[in-house]
Amino acid sequence: MKAVIVIGSGMGGLATAIRLAANGHKVTVFEKNNYAGGKLSELRLNNYRFDKGPSLLTLPHLIDELTHLSKYPNPFVYNRLQTLTHYFYEDGTCIKAPANAQAFAEVLNKTLNEEVQTVTKHLQLSALYYNLTADIFLHNTLHRFKTILNFRTLKGLVNSWRLPLLNTMHQANSKRFKNEKTVQLFNRYATYNGSSPYKAPALLNIIPHLEFNLGAYLPEQGMHAITQHLVACAQHLGVAFRYNETVSNINQHQQNVSGIKSNGINYDADLVVSDVDMHVLYKRLLPPTYYPQRLLNQEKSSSAYIFYWGIKASFSQLDVHNILFSNDYQAEFKALFETQEPYSDPTIYINITSKICKADAPNGCENWFVMVNVPHNATQATISYGDKLRTWVIEKINRMLNTNIEPLIEVETVLDPFGIELQTSSFGGSLYGNSSNSKFSAFLRHANYSSKLKGLYLVGGSVHPGGGIPLSLLSGKIVSALVKEDVG
Ligand SMILES: Cc1cc2nc3c(=O)[nH]c(=O)nc-3n(C[C@H](O)[C@H](O)[C@H](O)COP(=O)(O)OP(=O)(O)OC[C@H]3O[C@@H](n4cnc5c(N)ncnc54)[C@H](O)[C@@H]3O)c2cc1C
Repeated sequence: MKAVIVIGSGMGGLATAIRLAANGHKVTVFEKNNYAGGKLSELRLNNYRFDKGPSLLTLPHLIDELTHLSKYPNPFVYNRLQTLTHYFYEDGTCIKAPANAQAFAEVLNKTLNEEVQTVTKHLQLSALYYNLTADIFLHNTLHRFKTILNFRTLKGLVNSWRLPLLNTMHQANSKRFKNEKTVQLFNRYATYNGSSPYKAPALLNIIPHLEFNLGAYLPEQGMHAITQHLVACAQHLGVAFRYNETVSNINQHQQNVSGIKSNGINYDADLVVSDVDMHVLYKRLLPPTYYPQRLLNQEKSSSAYIFYWGIKASFSQLDVHNILFSNDYQAEFKALFETQEPYSDPTIYINITSKICKADAPNGCENWFVMVNVPHNATQATISYGDKLRTWVIEKINRMLNTNIEPLIEVETVLDPFGIELQTSSFGGSLYGNSSNSKFSAFLRHANYSSKLKGLYLVGGSVHPGGGIPLSLLSGKIVSALVKEDVG
């Protein structure tokens, strides 16, 4: 049994804590906030409840695995969504995307004149690419020769010629679909890891497979229930949680970790797992000699500006997930990743959990989570464009939903890139660590262990295999396998 300290209680930290405790290690989680979950936390404003960060759950079996490992008696309850998203375009076109692939293809045929077969083929290819790559890119470390030699990974590598590695997502989608609106709809999946469809490889077209073939889900009590459930599983295994603990240093002895320093006090450990953004880990918790300069210089994923609005009305044209598209998607991504400024006609995402979780808003009211993609905050200064952005967002919502939204906002608060960094230590408020805006970005993420400091492991959205809830949970699975290999 090893004494393990996990720094940070985000998805990666919680998943690792559960797995290592289930393997018999003594695990303590040090968390700088007075609550767990990192980006996956919640907010209450008067009688409204909001999930603060993630709103879409895919691959929920990864949470079931953790329930099973911890032997926690209460199941994690979630439901598959029958409708994925309501999409709105400026010319009045509205697409209600059913979760069923065939039904979705028929909707696109009716509204956008796409061939049913073209859409179903796209989703079948999405599944094929996912199945070819999951073992290489998602389930294993890419960084140890031994793993690469395992049969499933080798099989994936042998088949890699079948993968769309040369085109960007936009190039592939615009070749396949005849209607620009369909291209825009499928291009949007690049934003699921904070990237641009005009730069990210077409391989990211695996993402629709998660929603259409494997399913999009909402926990019965909203997304924050994921955090609550994982903390309960961890505690059931005896994991100790220490809140309000800001770790300032990873202590070492002769190239081995020996513990951490938190709030000025040293704590010993045999192994340390960092769920802290990789950038922050190297800049603040380790000496400069450890900097992986090439990785730290890579482009960051986008951030978000979120308005949490308690709305004293109900909108029948909206569902749980809604997108109000910008008119010029390419210009929007140019602003996000090249000029690095907020865009005046932004694509707006509105998430309303109270459509299903009735307790999240008073009767006849709705909890709107209104999110716009914005550049990560490279200068780390306070954000000055909030008022301007709010005006653009309100004008667009009024125009596209034919309403006057401002008088209906009963309660309001916002979260901007500066706030995201302050609350979760994610560098510049980027949502998913480094972006995937290069052909080989999947190969270029930081490994799940330090090659210079023995006993230090890395999890979470900024390292391999990537950002988002499922991949952060998978990073914990990879680290648990590495620890088993390293120390038993
Ligand atoms: C607005 C928003 C929307 C998103 N939407 C989705 C979505 O719909 N679906 C999806 O799958 N993903 C989504 N994501 C991404 C997803 O939330 C993250 O990829 C995932 O939750 C990251 O988990 P993590 O393990 O990296 O930890 P994080 O959530 O980044 O947490 C890190 C933890 O470490 C703690 N910490 C940092 N430094 C220290 C220190 N020095 N000492 C102690 N503790 C420290 C922090 O306080 C924090 O609790 C979204 C993210 C945001 C912000």
